[in-house]
Amino acid sequence: MRILVQKFGGTSVATLDHMRKAQLKVVAGLQKMDKVLAVLSARSGETNRLLELAREWSPDPDPAELDLLVSTGEQISVALFTMLLKDAGIRARSFTGRQIGIRTDRVFGKARIRDIDGEIIAKALLDHDVLVVAGFQGVTDDGRITTLGRGGSDTSAVALAAVVQAELCEIFTDVEGVFTTDPNLCPQARKLERISYDEMLEMASMGAKVLEIRSVEFAKKFSVPVLVRSTFSEAPGTFVTQEDSRMEHVLVSGIAYDKDQARISLRSVPDRPGVAAAIFTPLAQANLSVDMIVQNSSHDGVTDMNFTISRKELPRAVRIMKAIQKDLGATDILYDDNVAKVSAIGVGMRNHSGVAATAFSALRQENINILMISTSEIKISCIIEDKYTELAVRTLHEAFHLAQPDVVSA
Ligand code: ASP
Ligand code: MG
Repeated sequence: MRILVQKFGGTSVATLDHMRKAQLKVVAGLQKMDKVLAVLSARSGETNRLLELAREWSPDPDPAELDLLVSTGEQISVALFTMLLKDAGIRARSFTGRQIGIRTDRVFGKARIRDIDGEIIAKALLDHDVLVVAGFQGVTDDGRITTLGRGGSDTSAVALAAVVQAELCEIFTDVEGVFTTDPNLCPQARKLERISYDEMLEMASMGAKVLEIRSVEFAKKFSVPVLVRSTFSEAPGTFVTQEDSRMEHVLVSGIAYDKDQARISLRSVPDRPGVAAAIFTPLAQANLSVDMIVQNSSHDGVTDMNFTISRKELPRAVRIMKAIQKDLGATDILYDDNVAKVSAIGVGMRNHSGVAATAFSALRQENINILMISTSEIKISCIIEDKYTELAVRTLHEAFHLAQPDVVSA
């Protein structure tokens, strides 16, 4: 049996008109494959509306109740969409995450999928052609509803695709695919035909916003072929797949940026074993994820420890650091949130040198000061003042000739 998973994002289900466009994609999907699993987001704006509602009721809403509340957004979508499909004579049925057996851990608001009950799906497919599943949600072993974190419907879709061994997981959104950078910042941005999981992970983690990061991790782990495409056009989209030799010819595939950055600097901590552990363990225990870490070289037995974190998590992180400051022996804790990260990403970097130098020279020419640098095999990231983000993105896009298709750029 050939199964297609199709995920429709918030804008694709926002109105009756938009849902009808999504419906056409499901019909087209059924022509190509035997069965379709349609995974839906909440209608655009709905999740935010529900979150605001909760804040009106409670300054610090109970996490389990908050999840029950926000999960209703997707429930509305699946019920409405299934009505349309049934009126069109399609054998369809709606499912909440719980009904389809998506079991998660108990981390409310950021739950991880543990397993999905393939039997429920197999049984439902006996007498339905389309299962319409609420994304973003699951259930704990003791029956509490959880949500998977913002953008989590992508993860629901990819996880379902892995479980049913779908031929393809199509992610329908309001853009035509993955671009070399954000077209809103840089009009020269070009749509990529394909991108590797690893590149996509870097793009997604840095605010490329098309695919939620966990969904890409899942796709990579279970080799789920993903196709990002638009509900509102026939454009072919971007494949997110295993790396192939074509990709290596291109040094840099994309420029990502992330304004959701804040930096913290612990001054003059003693340079001895265990210091990093003492700093980052309590952050991890509080479920705060640290992004870039730079430890200065030590002088006179002390060093500065610098790291970045999501802006909204800055107050919590600072509180945690202040609590351990004395034990740690840090003289000062400095922090600011007017920084941003720009990154050049490409699997081609693995086999070529000089990419970092090209990036730094380009930024230098625009007089953009680099505050922190980190590199990996396929990525160079710089923290800069956030007011220069647009300029930096355009400059790097230009420096690596990303507007021209598949030019080897150094
Ligand atoms: N509705 C949820 C959100 O806005 C999940 C999703 O759309 O993927 O984050
Ligand atoms: Mg999304």
